[in-house]
Amino acid sequence: MPIYEYECVKCGHVFEKLQKVGEGSEDLECPECKTKNPKKLVTRFRTNLWSTFLDDMDRKVSPHKFK
Ligand SMILES: [Zn+2]
Repeated sequence: MPIYEYECVKCGHVFEKLQKVGEGSEDLECPECKTKNPKKLVTRFRTNLWSTFLDDMDRKVSPHKFK
């Protein structure tokens, strides 16, 4: 699962959220001021890093999938 970074449109607070692919941001709210619909930030590097980490884990657990 990728980690997404969101920025609150009201107070500018940036927070991270682990989400399933395709899950919307409509129900998210800022942990600081409870404003809904935060702006999604592009965090390509972080997401790739996380995906690489998960791939490595998967490789160790089930190496047959990567032959
Ligand atoms: Zn806020």
